[in-house]
Amino acid sequence: MTQGRLLGKTAFVTGGGAGIGAASALSLAAHGARVVVTDLDAAAAVAVAAQITAAGGQAVGWHLDVTDESEWEARIQETLGTFGALTVLLNNAGIAPTADLIEDLKLSDWRRTLAVNLDGVFLGVKHGIRAMKANTASAGSIINVSSVYGIVGTTRAPDYVAAKGAVRLLTKAAALECSQSRYPIRVNSIHPGFIETPMLSAGLSSMVQRGFFPNTDTAHQVLQSLHPIGRLGLPTDVAAAVVYLASDESAFMTGSELVIDGGYTAQ
Ligand code: NAP
Repeated sequence: MTQGRLLGKTAFVTGGGAGIGAASALSLAAHGARVVVTDLDAAAAVAVAAQITAAGGQAVGWHLDVTDESEWEARIQETLGTFGALTVLLNNAGIAPTADLIEDLKLSDWRRTLAVNLDGVFLGVKHGIRAMKANTASAGSIINVSSVYGIVGTTRAPDYVAAKGAVRLLTKAAALECSQSRYPIRVNSIHPGFIETPMLSAGLSSMVQRGFFPNTDTAHQVLQSLHPIGRLGLPTDVAAAVVYLASDESAFMTGSELVIDGGYTAQ
């Protein structure tokens, strides 16, 4: 571990077994945080935690389905028992849209996306506030992963944009509530453009299978052309923003939306 921007902090990451969550867990640890890596895929969470400890950091890897409130309560209590306090919560776990038009979208599919991408964040914010509100040594930072599709709309992702847009405003409501209550907790959202992760690879393959693109290379190029900077994002691009929001360098930021999108929404 080389740097100490996050020394003394304990970070809890959801969906930390892959993609943006895994890169963020590794970066948080590299900057000195103790990290609780959680995921629906417990083995993936354990593997990321093992990578952190192998590099000299402190981490544990646990199962957490973010839609399960009793599991949230248990994992937060275990975090307090293991590391003494919770200071950073990254609500990252999410699933891809079904890629249906609104007129074809099944209610059950709508509810599944909202359950993971919105209810999961609500539960994290709720139990994160409860765990952090009495912090004295280190103020709390809750970081909610939204998307550019929490700012602008798109087609074939109505469930996803509805959830991500709601995460953006839930974040502001939570920031105001914490400030009004004088809790030492900041709450901010981050809004990535398209990022090279397993979710994106699966999405590209599914778009090709459904005939929207002839092959994944073409699909990739089309997505790339949406980003003026000329490339898709990397998980580490997002992890750098997570480290900043987790650190005391962002002490005056709450209720903010940090966009990391290669210019996607600047157009
Ligand atoms: P990813 O590669 O699919 O990783 C997400 C992780 O979350 C996976 O390990 C997944 O486990 C886990 N997960 C899924 N459902 C869960 C649940 N109910 N409880 C706990 N964990 C669960 O996705 P990613 O691309 O890194 O995305 C991370 C976040 O960034 C998501 O909120 C996504 O919407 C957002 N985002 C992504 C992009 C992008 O282009 N990639 C852009 C903007 C925003 P399984 O693999 O077992 O399902």
